[in-house]
Amino acid sequence: MNTSSEYASHLDSQDELRDYRNKFLIPPFKGVDSIYLAGNSLGLQPQSTQAAIQQELHDWHTLGVEGHLHAKNAWLYYHHFSKEGLMHLCGANKNEVVAMNGLTVNLHLLLISFYQPSATRYKIVIEAGAFPSDQYIVETQIAYHKYNPSEAIIEVSPSQGYEITIDDIAKACEGQEQTIALFLFSGVQYYTGQYFDIASITEYAHNIGALAGFDLAHAIGNVPLQLHDWDVDFAAWCSYKYLNSGPGSVAGAFIHESHTRVIKQPVLGGWWGVDENTRFMMHKGFVPVASVDAWQHSNAPVLSMAALGTSLQLFQNAGIENLRTKSIALTNYFEYLLNHQTNNHFTIITPPNSMNRGCQLSLLYQFNGKKTHQKLSEEGIISDWREHNHTGDGEGIIRMAPVPLYNTYLDVWRAAAIINETS
Ligand SMILES: *Cc1c(COP(=O)(O)O)cnc(C)c1O
Repeated sequence: MNTSSEYASHLDSQDELRDYRNKFLIPPFKGVDSIYLAGNSLGLQPQSTQAAIQQELHDWHTLGVEGHLHAKNAWLYYHHFSKEGLMHLCGANKNEVVAMNGLTVNLHLLLISFYQPSATRYKIVIEAGAFPSDQYIVETQIAYHKYNPSEAIIEVSPSQGYEITIDDIAKACEGQEQTIALFLFSGVQYYTGQYFDIASITEYAHNIGALAGFDLAHAIGNVPLQLHDWDVDFAAWCSYKYLNSGPGSVAGAFIHESHTRVIKQPVLGGWWGVDENTRFMMHKGFVPVASVDAWQHSNAPVLSMAALGTSLQLFQNAGIENLRTKSIALTNYFEYLLNHQTNNHFTIITPPNSMNRGCQLSLLYQFNGKKTHQKLSEEGIISDWREHNHTGDGEGIIRMAPVPLYNTYLDVWRAAAIINETS
């Protein structure tokens, strides 16, 4: 590797996935493409999305209610159309994945079923500094069951640095193992970018008699997942980050088959949760279908699911394993360029081992952070700035995600050049 822009262009010319960038609409900046490193917040729009939504608008126009059965993609069965793509990304069976609702809603629904606290087993383990919605979910679910959140939440912090290890988890739980009902962890941490060892956390949870659930907001479409083989109990995600399905688009959920062959958990019923062959007989009595589909309540939000469908198709065509290979190379290259300049004012708090991170680097600044973020923006490089104490002294983090579907080595080279110049 070297630090020249020619080398970056050379890497782009060798990239077998380079044509995928042309399948996206890149936000313009002063008449040229911006350098978009914010795919961890909102993924870009695939070129194919508009036509997919247009198709549904057209069928709605020409068919009205008949579209439920006679649309090109019959609306009645719309939940099925995204299953294959989700199976590919999650490493799951057909009965284990479904697109529905929003992420926070799904986590609440899953906890209603899987968080069944008793006087002796009622605690929930979560990583310290979890995304606010996840903290609120855990806090309010515990309070809903009339336990005390400040006593029932076990937060795991890193014993050193910024990375949480399985030993840190075991230490935080020590002596309380028999009181733990459930783990709710991120797959990839939104702030540090750490990719947790989902299989080991699940194994640890099961060994102490607890369940393991994951928030995959930053993991799905970023790292290949094997939720079935890892024995994960349940998971949920949103689709507007790495899944490029548009702002607020439909989220999804995974429930392991071992919980759905015979459903023992309480499920809040809706008409979309029963066997579709008898759905329209309007029977009395909720009988959940033996699949994650039992957790569905409503008929599909077709417009946002059309967007999800086109995006999943891109992942299936490219292959999540191929994307991961490029992602590791691209993020490593970015890190190499940033570390090359030794007098920078930031610390990269994302794990240095590429196995323990997705396509993200988080740069922690004691000062100059805001200035650097501003400079990036002025140069048409879109990144995410989170100020720490809101005093304007520039302390905070810049998060950047080089996304293998649409970012190039030259994108990363340009961003690193600005950062190294400014920091
Ligand atoms: C993005 C994100 C959310 C957002 O929740 P919504 O219900 O989609 O608004 C929740 N949790 C995590 C960890 C996230 O990264």
